[in-house]
Amino acid sequence: MFYHGGMRVEYREEPCKVALNRVKGMPFGWSLNPYMGCVHRCTFCYVRAFERRADRPSDDRYGSSIRVKINIAEVLRAELARRSWAGDGVAIGAATDPYQPAEGRYKLTRACLDVLVRASNPFSIITRGPMIVRDVDLLVEASRRADVSVTFSVPTIDDDVWRTTEPGTAPPRQRLRALRTLVAAGVRASVGMAPLLPGLSDHPDSLERVVVAAREAGACGIWANLLHLQPGTREHFLDCLARDWPELLPDYERLYRASGYLKATDMRPAKDTVQRLANEHGIRDRRRLKLRPRERDEQLSLLSA
Ligand code: SF4
Repeated sequence: MFYHGGMRVEYREEPCKVALNRVKGMPFGWSLNPYMGCVHRCTFCYVRAFERRADRPSDDRYGSSIRVKINIAEVLRAELARRSWAGDGVAIGAATDPYQPAEGRYKLTRACLDVLVRASNPFSIITRGPMIVRDVDLLVEASRRADVSVTFSVPTIDDDVWRTTEPGTAPPRQRLRALRTLVAAGVRASVGMAPLLPGLSDHPDSLERVVVAAREAGACGIWANLLHLQPGTREHFLDCLARDWPELLPDYERLYRASGYLKATDMRPAKDTVQRLANEHGIRDRRRLKLRPRERDEQLSLLSA
């Protein structure tokens, strides 16, 4: 039993049979999650909806019991070695943060990166965890061998909104410092402003503060998306909103009345503003050292050297 942010956290060391999960309807085909559950306990976490569907707690108890897939690196190695494996890109962190505190103890994300590097397999990582700088050596080597990218989730740099909606994460500016370190080392790293919360983090001034901070940190790109409220996430988020910003509750009930997604017309202004600000502030891939996968022949000649 461990404590994080004053909460008792149970780590369940459970081996897995499968490391890579097939994903449909997303921009990536495969996902990899060394942990299930996340002690960051963001009030808006979309994983709460998956938990609800799997008949697991999506309320305050979410994040208090973390499954640790202790054998995931060995399982991954075997899966990548199969003749049927086509070397597709793998998304790490789609269903839980791969750099949550458990990673400091178990180093399973690092072990999986090591396997992916040795297989020269492309991958992407999404995280709110500055601990990723510990693995800069592997990320640099991975970037030399395959298409690799890192996205830091930074929807806001407003202290009040961050502290209230992300009770367990590191401060956004720490994430941006981590981004700076990776970019300086040659790793392609961007910012994902998600989820933007209507009335809390989607004001043009708030958006510009994040875009400016991302530009200063050297982000290679930036994108934005708005909050989704699927069953499981919806109840918890609205309960928290009623406690923290009760005056906003009627607006959210109106905006999300018809479904868990905002209408396109409600999403467009914030997304367009981020795009415009990104252009105005010149956010693009400005890495001095641009690591690119070596040509295959070059890799083979290095292996035979
Ligand atoms: S860091 Fe990501 S996975 Fe973890 S609680 Fe927050 S939104 Fe969910």
